[in-house]
Amino acid sequence: TFKQSQLLETLPKQFFASLVEKVNKIVAQGHDVINLGQGNPDQPTPDHIVKAMQKAVENPQFHKYSPFRGQTFLKEAIATFYKREYGVEIEPSTEVAILFGGKAGLVEVPQCLLNPGDVVLVPDPGYPDYWSGVELARAKMEVMPLIRENHFLPDYKSLSKEAVENAKLMILNYPNNPTGATATEEFFKETVEFAEGNDICVVHDFAYGAIGFDGKRPMSFLQTKGAKEIGIEIYTFSKSYNMAGWRIGFAVGNPSVIEALNLLQDHMYVSVFSAIQEAAAHALLSPQTCVAELNALYESRRNTLIQAFREIGWDVTAPSGSFFAWLPVPSQFESSQDFSDYLLENAHVVVAPGIGFGDYGEGYVRVGFLTSEERLVEAANRIKALNLF
Ligand code: PLP
Repeated sequence: TFKQSQLLETLPKQFFASLVEKVNKIVAQGHDVINLGQGNPDQPTPDHIVKAMQKAVENPQFHKYSPFRGQTFLKEAIATFYKREYGVEIEPSTEVAILFGGKAGLVEVPQCLLNPGDVVLVPDPGYPDYWSGVELARAKMEVMPLIRENHFLPDYKSLSKEAVENAKLMILNYPNNPTGATATEEFFKETVEFAEGNDICVVHDFAYGAIGFDGKRPMSFLQTKGAKEIGIEIYTFSKSYNMAGWRIGFAVGNPSVIEALNLLQDHMYVSVFSAIQEAAAHALLSPQTCVAELNALYESRRNTLIQAFREIGWDVTAPSGSFFAWLPVPSQFESSQDFSDYLLENAHVVVAPGIGFGDYGEGYVRVGFLTSEERLVEAANRIKALNLF
């Protein structure tokens, strides 16, 4: 056996692995578990995208190495998509990097821009893979608390002077995992001013860009004046087109950051399989009916979930985007972990403990609506029977 590198040892523990283990144990005992703890979209990839992939697979040109830095047709489709959907001009040759999913880009960016010891501002609670990216770059993390009183947006004025001075990079994510919050135009404007004034590069994780409720479409960060001068946005096909298993996404924005990402990727990969790139371009250029239908499905599930939980006496706030609700832990429980364990053992309902997303996640659990409305109501009924509220 060989010892792992010190670098690997610094990686944060996969918090949710132990939850999966506990769930598997209950399932193995033959119980019917309702899993609201995961973030894996339950719907299949739309048929027209699968068909485009099937056709593309038969093209022998695509059996060779894909071009370094991705297919031009996909980069052009991305530019068309950003112009059509957000009115944002993107130069395909210098302002797009094709990624193996959003996660790859999020983990790569710190390695592209930072030196050991540089500081990254990271939202807390937040998507745990941000931490891994920071560790792999041997950088340091300073958290930006996301609290209900501030609508789960960071308050730049509350950050320490030292943290701001040393920060080189900042990660944001709206619609937000895990809180379900969305950003406002004012907040993005304030972000550009803050980043410009302090020489900080902004990475906006737009993984849930296609999922917004109550008639409000989530804003792209690049719609903000000056955003492209100070940052990039990372988009993925995983959620908007139910293509999580395909592993494709992209970064758009500031050319120097895009160049750095491409350079790192030149040394690690060639590029995503061209047939997948073809299907992805097809997804962006086709009518967006499937995206609208998916949004409507999640909105309907959100409404059902929130109504069902309120009816059993749980004081919950409706998320404005993403497919997660961020719910307060009832006061009789010591921690989000205790509450999650209790629900799993006594109701066979899985929720993700907030502490898994950072210290500021304590006091909450994340509930995903990635199952049928019938199952969501069943989960509420099982929780009701525990007489917690
Ligand atoms: N960002 C956030 C906030 C996510 O929740 C996820 C997936 O769960 C990702 C990024 C990564 O998505 P992918 O790597 O599938 O594009």
